[in-house]
Amino acid sequence: MDAFASVTELSIALADKKISSRELTDLYLDRITKIDPSLNSHLTVAADSARVAADAIDARRATGEKLHALAGIPFGVKDAITTAGVRATGAAKILDNYIPTHDATVIARLRAAGGVMIGKHNCDTFGHGASNENSMYGPANNPWDVSRVAGGSSGGSGAAVAAGLQPYAIGEDTGGSVRAPAAFCGVSGLKVSYGRNSRFGAMPMASSLDTVGVFGQTVADIALVMQTIAGHDPLDPTSAVAPVPNYTHALEKTVQGLRIGVPAEFFSDDLDPAIRASVESALEVFQNAGAQLIPVTLPHIQYAIATYYILVPCEDSSNMARYDGIRYGVRASRPDLFETYAASRTEGLPNEVKRRIMIGTFALSHGYYEAYYLRAQKARTLICQDFANAFEKVDVMISPTMPEIAFKKGEKTTDPLKMYLADVFTGSASLAGLSALSVPCGFSQNMPIGMQIIAPRLAEDIALHAGHIYQKNSDWHTRHPAV
Ligand code: GLN
Repeated sequence: MDAFASVTELSIALADKKISSRELTDLYLDRITKIDPSLNSHLTVAADSARVAADAIDARRATGEKLHALAGIPFGVKDAITTAGVRATGAAKILDNYIPTHDATVIARLRAAGGVMIGKHNCDTFGHGASNENSMYGPANNPWDVSRVAGGSSGGSGAAVAAGLQPYAIGEDTGGSVRAPAAFCGVSGLKVSYGRNSRFGAMPMASSLDTVGVFGQTVADIALVMQTIAGHDPLDPTSAVAPVPNYTHALEKTVQGLRIGVPAEFFSDDLDPAIRASVESALEVFQNAGAQLIPVTLPHIQYAIATYYILVPCEDSSNMARYDGIRYGVRASRPDLFETYAASRTEGLPNEVKRRIMIGTFALSHGYYEAYYLRAQKARTLICQDFANAFEKVDVMISPTMPEIAFKKGEKTTDPLKMYLADVFTGSASLAGLSALSVPCGFSQNMPIGMQIIAPRLAEDIALHAGHIYQKNSDWHTRHPAV
């Protein structure tokens, strides 16, 4: 079986008994053993429990039972998402030995469908970063060029899917963490709108922006996975009480009349020429297929990064307070309790987390709250309104996913502001709680380029439809790195 086969192809092969789930699981586990030492995309490989799950599915299939489309198909998960019985560190030493007793809701839904969880993916610690270099277990490397970053924060997930170590993966996106690795590694990645997928079991970073999303080889595969995991969850009070559309049906709608917004602000003069050329030719593909291109403006988008990097640290500084080093992970022994907390947090959390705790605490403190947090909230409202106005005229909006191709490791690690600017195209959709999909749309210097398709809140079906149209009319998503 081709390790880059789509979920649909794997599903058919399993149903036709051309391959068993056990054989498929072993195929991916072997690839992890051979390929992952150069990628560092996995923090934990759940080989034993995966084989048990695969055998159980094979036994059920042997009885003639009709199984779910995802049954017996392996997948991987960002390590900041809990998996019952399998270590979940969030790439932080402070949770180094944490073995959750419960599955995140999306994982529980995949397991109930017969999905086989085979590995936990490297990421920036608790999602803090855009390159995976803020992992306390070393960076995940880009399978197209291991001297370059995989993107972050769900870098291991992007690298693993791109390298054919799993057919799909579950990641998390607060400001670009699914889209950036998808773009840098040349796979498809969906950031769902706020509330679409349950966040129960996802380690929080910025609770008003965090979302759980999907990586796949194709948009059609993402649709299939979304059908299984999306929808209200009583365990997550922020999950939307809204019907889940039929995503696979949505893919097959006609492209005629699809209105694509092209925001002027996302195609400014300083945009990298190779990225501009790729995204502009993708826009032509849409036009030739029958879609309509409409210029739009998002006048407040210029404040998105500044707004994001106030609000996220504010929420973050409170979310990070839970890690005390007492029960799990690194625990520094000191004569008194306060010093024990302080020393454990010093050793167990990386610099970027500490930086955000300090920025957030400062921005929320008396005398500064109005100047920073309150103003950032107002700017967020203006950004939301910009999108709402534009979505009166268009169905989706298109931009580059990232301002550049995957950069060399170490290039931005000494300058946090440079790293923050990597989110220039992704952060705004997160502030507005929208759906946003990244699909491969070209190459520059042999590295993949990603295009972002933004759709309204809870309109993942529209983003997936547009992405699928593009993939029917292009072949960038069919190229794989030589690993
Ligand atoms: N790069 C962004 C940040 O560091 C996005 C992170 C994410 O989406 N988890 O905040």
